[in-house]
Amino acid sequence: MLIQAIYRHAVLPAYESLYQRRHTLRYLRQLDRSQWLSAAEIQTQQFASLKRIVEHAERHCPYFQRSWSALGLSSADLRNLDDFRRWPLTEKKQIRENRLEMRATDIQRPLLAKSTGGSTGTPLQFDLDMGSHERRWAAMLRGYGWAGGTPGTKQFHLWGAPLEAQPLKRRLKDRIFNLVQRRRMVNSFHLSDETVPDILRELNRYRPDVIVAYTGAIFQFARSLAERNLHPFSPKSIIVGAEKLHGFQRELIESVFRCRVFETYGSREFMLIGAECSEHRGLHVTSEQLLVEILNDDGQPTPAGQAGNVVITDLFNYGMPFIRYVNGDQALAGFDQCTCGRGLPLLREVRGRRLDAIRTPDGKLVPGEFFPHLFKDFPAVRQFQVVQPAQDRLELRVVLLPDMKDSDRSRILKIISETVGQHVQLAWQPVQDIPLTRTGKHMVVVSHVPATSDPASGTADKSETT
Ligand SMILES: [Zn+2]
Repeated sequence: MLIQAIYRHAVLPAYESLYQRRHTLRYLRQLDRSQWLSAAEIQTQQFASLKRIVEHAERHCPYFQRSWSALGLSSADLRNLDDFRRWPLTEKKQIRENRLEMRATDIQRPLLAKSTGGSTGTPLQFDLDMGSHERRWAAMLRGYGWAGGTPGTKQFHLWGAPLEAQPLKRRLKDRIFNLVQRRRMVNSFHLSDETVPDILRELNRYRPDVIVAYTGAIFQFARSLAERNLHPFSPKSIIVGAEKLHGFQRELIESVFRCRVFETYGSREFMLIGAECSEHRGLHVTSEQLLVEILNDDGQPTPAGQAGNVVITDLFNYGMPFIRYVNGDQALAGFDQCTCGRGLPLLREVRGRRLDAIRTPDGKLVPGEFFPHLFKDFPAVRQFQVVQPAQDRLELRVVLLPDMKDSDRSRILKIISETVGQHVQLAWQPVQDIPLTRTGKHMVVVSHVPATSDPASGTADKSETT
């Protein structure tokens, strides 16, 4: 505890304020207070922030000025959230085509250029201002804190690291940062059946308070340990992110590591969007800084309990406002209140990235979600990836356990064939391994058949969130 206190009150402020000149910790103190406000108070503040960013975008961002005035929209008419529903959505495509004109013309300090990974699609480049950068760091520190990962705790990160070698200056900076933050980094790209014993040894030696990991990577690690009957060091908690957490994954990870798993939801565009508190009833949304809406394909609010598209407005990125941005993820609609007493609303469940749909020659549209649903009933299929190289062909790449039965294979093929129709040829392809994307994630369904104007197909965009 003493070491934690020293880190929190001496080392971190020195690092953050002097070395980085950031206001992160001041924002963290504000967020630590505001989370306990009532839901109504948070909504009032949120709407005031919304109004300010819309006024700002209207005045200083040529793109928004032009497109809103063409629709007859004026920030003067924005009096409540219902009014805001008249504002147009922003798709990734629009950001790609209008990035420069989305930037505010009145920003003094240079903007930070960022990009999302983009696996098979084009990466998305965008900008943010320093203030927004500091605020999102603060929100992440708060969310990790709910899971026991406050600044100064010992953290073991099993996370995707850049594939390309970084320049020396950058590597040194990262090293200092990790040392100050008491972080041990293990590249999740290096996780394989062969490296599991090494990673286990490193974890057992480091004895972290918290493990922070890619959902897929820690699940794979836990499964490998369970298969070999190996028992890892048990941290106080495990924070997972970057990919959707399924119930069966949570169960296995918790039983192998003998501690609770805390789900987080974030993306490169906004950092932490939501995180679980110790009640595990859903993800508390970073409502002081983000407005999250769940909308149907026609742009209308999704009824509570149904899945819809995640649409986010960043209330503080004054450098390049994100207004009603469709991020390509799906989540269950309907925000609840938590029993922990925080006024921040709960996002019930994140369904994750909308998977590619499979379009068949006879005009059927099979949602990508069909495949994980199917394969979960066949545990001998350790991993899978469905690829549609052409409209009449589907490749089923599968990593199989030795106990895979021929009868199960036939059943899987029969079910898929009945679903996609007889005009699609199925290729069963057992493989040793399924390569991850550039940013270390697993693409479950990949269709190379171009999307038409069919609204039910979702975005054809495959850039990722991290
Ligand atoms: Zn809570």
